Amino acid sequence: MEIRLENINKIFKGDKKKGVEDTIAVSNLNIKINNGELAGLLGPSGCGKSTTLYMIAGLKEPTSGNIFFDKEDVTHLVPEKKGIGLVFQNYALYPHMSVYKNIAFPLTNLKVLTFKQSLKVKTLSLLISLLDNDKYLEIKELINSSTLDNKKINKDLALRNLINKYHISPSFAKTLFSLDYSSKESILETINKAKEDINKEIAKIKEKNGYTLDNEFYYLDQDNKKIEEKRKLSKDEIDILVRDVAKLVQIEEQLDKKPKELSGGQQQRVAIARALVKKPRVLLLDEPLSNLDARLRIKTREEIRRIQKETGITTVFVTHDQEEAMSICDDIFVMNNGKLMQEGKPIEVYKDPKNLFVAKFLGTPPINVFKGEFKNNAIYVDNEKILDNVKLCGENYTNLTFLSCYVAIRPEGFVFEDKNESLGLSLKVNEISLSGKEQTLICSHEQKLSEDIKIVIDGDAHISISEYRFTTKSNKIFLFDLNNEERIYFENASK
Ligand code: ATP
Repeated sequence: MEIRLENINKIFKGDKKKGVEDTIAVSNLNIKINNGELAGLLGPSGCGKSTTLYMIAGLKEPTSGNIFFDKEDVTHLVPEKKGIGLVFQNYALYPHMSVYKNIAFPLTNLKVLTFKQSLKVKTLSLLISLLDNDKYLEIKELINSSTLDNKKINKDLALRNLINKYHISPSFAKTLFSLDYSSKESILETINKAKEDINKEIAKIKEKNGYTLDNEFYYLDQDNKKIEEKRKLSKDEIDILVRDVAKLVQIEEQLDKKPKELSGGQQQRVAIARALVKKPRVLLLDEPLSNLDARLRIKTREEIRRIQKETGITTVFVTHDQEEAMSICDDIFVMNNGKLMQEGKPIEVYKDPKNLFVAKFLGTPPINVFKGEFKNNAIYVDNEKILDNVKLCGENYTNLTFLSCYVAIRPEGFVFEDKNESLGLSLKVNEISLSGKEQTLICSHEQKLSEDIKIVIDGDAHISISEYRFTTKSNKIFLFDLNNEERIYFENASK
């Protein structure tokens, strides 16, 4: 399912009498999320990302603009009609219900429009196919090996093994468990009885309304057309859906517990399972990892990526954590003040930020920003030349010979102990922290505009608290206009 937002605006009305101004939460937003992709809505607090997500969900109506799921205009559809699965940061599980019931909850009153099928004939046919041609021996073996102490068969374990192996409901597992496996004759008897029951049922259906059944046990009318019916899901159908999704998010062992008996990460998996059990068209995640500790956050975000890939469901993930979005999203949409600042693949946006906001928002440690100049075809910071043979691009800049601008350098854009004596930036190294193969230097400089200058260099470099001259990598340097903070592109002939 492709999601498209066209010219979306959302204004929260203020109260003039109380002097409360209108809030423009989202402004002229145009976004396209590709089918089957994981998209990250990313930005600082208050930038409008949750409002955007809630408009996609149908929990909030846009003031203007349209939202499409593929070709369908869903702008004014209520959440129940949209076919969405929504996960909040606080999980919102029902504390008094078991995990199983929490997941099953969205299905209990759900009416589905399906083709009428004879579940009785389907079950009997399944029974025959599992027993026929000596296949019952495999079931017998599975039951006999379901022991905890190598002696007595444990019924609960046997049922669980049957459910998992044959992907069947508990009631059907009980039927399998209760059969007499002592001789081939008794199994043949069961098979024959099932065949008889199938014939009886088919005759009953024919007699009642003249319908027949097709190979998959769907009712066919006199014109061989399937019959539609709107009905609730059966207990067995719900059971299979719940167990399937529990397996997908890897909480199948926790189904009987109450939410408070689970870890935060497990609770979030339950919330995701509950959102997925109705097989929604899109999955919407609102800061799903914020309540987890650092280690669990990383683990759970990888889980979300795996689940998303396995299901192929188009997913929108809201977060203020750029590292989180960069690590799992196919595409990111960086927002600020209700506006889209940039979109693209995380690595492309990182390598090619269109404005200072995006350059500063993406990257750990963050980009270092200095006040600098372009003059004599070179880039300077505080009269130190850091790059020469530079030509500015873009019609507003090509003919300029001098320009004050922001000079932003990524932490990994500095080179230590370079022999080049004509270029470089002198920095005072105040702190050094080693993290495995890299070391991060915390430095200072008069013209710096960011909080600290952070440089990441090789962990083996011999460096101490002192002043050094660093050269820079041209593809890690970005220039930005002092007025509108837009990127100023340049060519560098000496590359
Ligand atoms: P956070 O990460 O803090 O949740 P966000 O990026 O999700 O922030 P939104 O919650 O979408 O931001 O809010 C965008 C703007 O709209 C904010 O200025 C917020 O104060 C305002 N806003 C959100 N909901 C309402 C509301 N119901 N009434 C008035 N203003 C609102």
